[in-house]
Amino acid sequence: MTASFTIAIDGPAAAGKGTISKAVAAALDLAHLDTGLLYRAVGVKVLEGMPAIAAAQSLTPEDLQRGDLRGPEAAQAASKVAVIAEVRAALVDFQRAFARRAGGAVLDGRDIGTVICPYAEVKLFVTASAEVRAQRRFLELSAKGEAETLEEVLADVKARDERDMNRSEAPLKPAEDAVVIDTSDLAIEEAVARALQEVATRR
Ligand code: C5P
Repeated sequence: MTASFTIAIDGPAAAGKGTISKAVAAALDLAHLDTGLLYRAVGVKVLEGMPAIAAAQSLTPEDLQRGDLRGPEAAQAASKVAVIAEVRAALVDFQRAFARRAGGAVLDGRDIGTVICPYAEVKLFVTASAEVRAQRRFLELSAKGEAETLEEVLADVKARDERDMNRSEAPLKPAEDAVVIDTSDLAIEEAVARALQEVATRR
């Protein structure tokens, strides 16, 4: 493998890109960055009263360790701050430096293959129907004891899709040269195997 080797994995919420990214990074011994955490950390600071741009510009590694970043409130807050051009701009350098680290890296998000790393050696776009994604997220949340209903989770997923796909800054879409993996009818092992096959053809 070359000194820096970037795998960009984009897609909508709960399509399986986080699981696939972690599995690919572990299998190939690459560093992994879940870029959604950056936006979630900014979103949570905004919920606490900080202006969004200042929050993005002052983000620290400790902010990404907070325990409250994974919940639905942080997700919705993240997708609201993610439409702001200055917020996105403040997070670009960190993501690009991570992508080019020696030894290689996997980044997952919404705009990695299109905006952050258009030069990535591998670009995957992981997707699934909104219903399948909502069902998966519902099961995850139920296991954690969260009280949201399936209908609420589906509405959240659709609201986030709508904002992420229709914003003018870095909208969610596959890069022209991305390989699309639809996980609607795939078990997670099959989706990971598909992703690893794609990587293998490009190494
Ligand atoms: O991936 P995750 O669901 O944690 O992302 C939360 C939100 O952050 C997304 O709905 C999206 O609005 C935003 N995001 C983004 N660009 C990325 C990663 C996440 O706009 N690269």
